[in-house]
Amino acid sequence: MTIDAAKFTDLDMPQRVLLGPGPSMVDPRVLRAMAAPMVGHLDPNFVKLMDQIQELLRYLFQTENDLTLPISGTGTAAMETCVANSVEPGDRVLVCINGYFGLRLAEMAKRYGADVATISRPWGEVFNAEDVRAALEKRAAQVVMIVHGETSSGAMQPLAEIAQVVHEYDGLLLVDTVASLGGVPFSVDDLGIDICYTGSQKCLSSPPGIGPVTFGPRAVEKLNNRATPVANWYLDLTLLRDYWGAPRKYHHTTPISANYALYESLRLVAEEGLETRWARHRRMAEMLWDGLEAIDMTMHVPLENRLASLTTVRIPDGLDELAIRKRLLVDYNIEIAGGLGELGGKVWRVGLMGYSARAENVLLLLAALEKLLG
Ligand SMILES: *Cc1c(COP(=O)(O)O)cnc(C)c1O
Repeated sequence: MTIDAAKFTDLDMPQRVLLGPGPSMVDPRVLRAMAAPMVGHLDPNFVKLMDQIQELLRYLFQTENDLTLPISGTGTAAMETCVANSVEPGDRVLVCINGYFGLRLAEMAKRYGADVATISRPWGEVFNAEDVRAALEKRAAQVVMIVHGETSSGAMQPLAEIAQVVHEYDGLLLVDTVASLGGVPFSVDDLGIDICYTGSQKCLSSPPGIGPVTFGPRAVEKLNNRATPVANWYLDLTLLRDYWGAPRKYHHTTPISANYALYESLRLVAEEGLETRWARHRRMAEMLWDGLEAIDMTMHVPLENRLASLTTVRIPDGLDELAIRKRLLVDYNIEIAGGLGELGGKVWRVGLMGYSARAENVLLLLAALEKLLG
């Protein structure tokens, strides 16, 4: 077999303005970090980097949790790590579903043998503590799963009271912050969250491929007392903690360059400071919301539950939404996303995450939309 090598041209990716639900734009400093020389994954220099990444992740999550590390895989791998390590076959699990990622959590929990109950809210609404209390009163659960920033709906879930209720019923609270961590105010320890995960490619503005997770003391206790081994070998935290900490036992080869990128993006978070970064995301989101309202568009989520890092805006009646998105991409280099699931065809999803959350991007999108919508 032969091949015509000449037909495979040099990579030629355009510089897009990425304003969808991820990946977000990547700071040039992060791209440069990825070009650093390859070293062995147990090289002393890399082992030091592993420790630094974990320290920076604790700042990002706002936690003292020892078991805090980056999974080699995207946000979905981090999600699966949290489910696989917290659930044992036969465990009762309650999943709160108000969007696409809640559905995914329930599906995963079932595959790991959980006895799953669900409560639901329309996409765009959030749960209150009484919803969770009523469900747990009917049937207690060892683990309660909920999404903080639902990327499919644009809603941000309040968590403090829900965490209290889950603990009253002696459960563990597992929270998805893939689309929100680093973009909106959040603290694992202050909120009392037991298990939490995120992804590198959203508000962290690192390339896709790494999924940070953290397990608190009560979650670690459950993990240590499992009757059955974690059913996913690659994502087994009882093995991974011996790789990311002493005794540094080989488990897999963590993607070195993706960790360089993660380190640099976490350093950018630390330099900016979380509070300043949250305020920037809020400012940019408000600029977007005001600008969209000025051209007679309506946000899908009421202001009090609106997620700053991802906005769902209703598509005006009769508009060919796909045609507009195509023109945004072709004429203006801007990527936004359509609706998922039950919001398909009804909303656009505009992400302002990490390095994408800048005034020039918001203004460009608003100007382009104003032109295209006439
Ligand atoms: C993007 C996202 C995920 C999945 O992350 P991937 O990096 O696409 O695997 C999970 N949960 C939420 C809320 C997300 O926005």
